[in-house]
Amino acid sequence: MEEQYEKEIVIETDFLKKNEQCANDIENLFKANQINAYDIMGSIGAGKTSLIIELVKKLKDKHNIYAIAGDLTTDIDAERIKEAGADVKQINTGKECHLDTTTIKNTLQDINLKEIDILFVENVGNLICPADYRLGTKKRIVVIAITEGPYMVLKHPYTFLSADIVVINKIDLSPYVGVEPDDLEKDLHKVNPKATVFQCSCRNREGIDALLKELLPEFRY
Ligand code: MG
Ligand code: ZN
Repeated sequence: MEEQYEKEIVIETDFLKKNEQCANDIENLFKANQINAYDIMGSIGAGKTSLIIELVKKLKDKHNIYAIAGDLTTDIDAERIKEAGADVKQINTGKECHLDTTTIKNTLQDINLKEIDILFVENVGNLICPADYRLGTKKRIVVIAITEGPYMVLKHPYTFLSADIVVINKIDLSPYVGVEPDDLEKDLHKVNPKATVFQCSCRNREGIDALLKELLPEFRY
């Protein structure tokens, strides 16, 4: 039994090492093509797609935007993002619960990278394993909704630890669910003092401009 576990751990470490090397390759590819790329993680229903849509709407007139939408089986998100004004590639991962660099690298081969300014990668809805797989993006964003309850940050420390930016979404619903965005923000600062936190409502478009300024300070909108 013990030997089997050891083997599993070795394989897992190999996977992660390979992913890390591949993430560096992808990062260089983005840099060479001057692409600002962002990986977006969060649970199902947190508002990852809605956030991408609001950002696309604000940026599409001046920038070429591409999105890679990871989902187990549907193309619902890809269709919504396309409607907002970005080119989209849907990746159905089947039973895989996260995106990895091999998948991203293969997808990038089909895209004319020279034509893209901004790339959003929507990870599979899941707050656990995507954190282990860096994708070579410039920044990692984690979206958490106020409706997910008061303990999400403390219960998923690794995901939030891997974030550069955290978006607390659906703050307009705070009075109805009794969860304070400021309390979540305090937890976030405890878990990951380096992450920049934004309180947003994609529905009311609150906080989106502030987030945009953080993402692309060098761009004009
Ligand atoms: Mg989505
Ligand atoms: Zn996974």
